[in-house]
Amino acid sequence: MRAHERLLRYVRFDTASSEASESCPSTPGQLILARALVEEMLEMGIEDARMDGYGYVYGSIPATAEGIPTIGLIAHMDTVDDVPASPVNARIVERYDGGAVRLECGDPLDPADFPELERRRGKDLIVTNGRTLLGADDKAGIAEILTACERILERPVPHGRICVGFTPDEEIGRGADHFDIPGFGADFAYTVDGDELGGIEYENFNAASAAVEFRGRSVHPGTAKGRMINAALLAMEYNALLPEAERPENTEGYEGFYHLTGMSGDVESARLNYILRDHNRAKLEEKKANMLRARDRINERYGSGSCACELTDSYSNMREVIELHPGVLRRAEAAYRAAGIEPFSAPIRGGTDGARLSFEGLPCPNLATGGMNFHGRFECIAVQDMDAMVEVLYNLLTLKSDA
Ligand SMILES: [Zn+2]
Repeated sequence: MRAHERLLRYVRFDTASSEASESCPSTPGQLILARALVEEMLEMGIEDARMDGYGYVYGSIPATAEGIPTIGLIAHMDTVDDVPASPVNARIVERYDGGAVRLECGDPLDPADFPELERRRGKDLIVTNGRTLLGADDKAGIAEILTACERILERPVPHGRICVGFTPDEEIGRGADHFDIPGFGADFAYTVDGDELGGIEYENFNAASAAVEFRGRSVHPGTAKGRMINAALLAMEYNALLPEAERPENTEGYEGFYHLTGMSGDVESARLNYILRDHNRAKLEEKKANMLRARDRINERYGSGSCACELTDSYSNMREVIELHPGVLRRAEAAYRAAGIEPFSAPIRGGTDGARLSFEGLPCPNLATGGMNFHGRFECIAVQDMDAMVEVLYNLLTLKSDA
């Protein structure tokens, strides 16, 4: 079976995760896909395929040779829920001609908006009807992993033990919450959850959040002179103390930011919520210190207790872990090159489950799926790029050495 045939089957499952839910998995649709995957893995010959009580799917293929590390491949089953996620009506545009594709909803999937389409010219492109996402993020990863496993099981070749894991709730940041690293048993792993072919992602943000509270003093506005302290205005003054150039909308690449994610307030009290991000740990610490300096400025001006700032660390850049295991990156590079694809690395401007797994003892960079426009109605992926990723994963699992 080819990877895209699997993908077209998986996208029919509605697996949108939901932040509002506290259960795991957060939505029952994910369990339905999880059970179908276990069944498929068993049929394929992955004899220990199983789903645990949290809806995580695991399975492994025994080694056929010695001296090859135990490698894990991981993808997530859920999709985002801030774009309509079902019903997905996918179709294949054969031999994409490089122009605008009119989706069924009437909107064009246009290379003027999405220049990455140029790299799909001449390939068969899987698109949506423009009303939902596709779910290639990350069902393409699942499809590519299982197709590579199927190839290995059908045509015996020397390989180490192979571990496969499919997680729920990645899109709501909980995919690593219940991941059983010892039970999984891999020496290192790769998430298959990126976009452009060749991508190896192992640098993510260091992240913190800040909750800033303001206390004012309400007085009748007619007699407020010299007495009123308006908490909502303190909040605005506070925000103005932060560097405008370091906002998400003004940064890219390795540039970190302060991002105001929420505000509420009136004269008596106000609250601002921020997330802080930087690939460089020292620079993140500097941003945190800056938040406290702004707090001190407000308190100096309006009296102590006018402003309080609580900082919480969220996650860290996995680079510091991955750099201790250079063979993990070299193996991925060699696997791409053996498939005729030039590898490249780009910093992730976010976090990944792989980052958390890396800090918990399972080094886990992220590889491509071949998809594009994730989290949107214009999500698409080329059939041939999925085939290429199957070859890359096959190489990854069967290369004798990392060099
Ligand atoms: Zn994803």
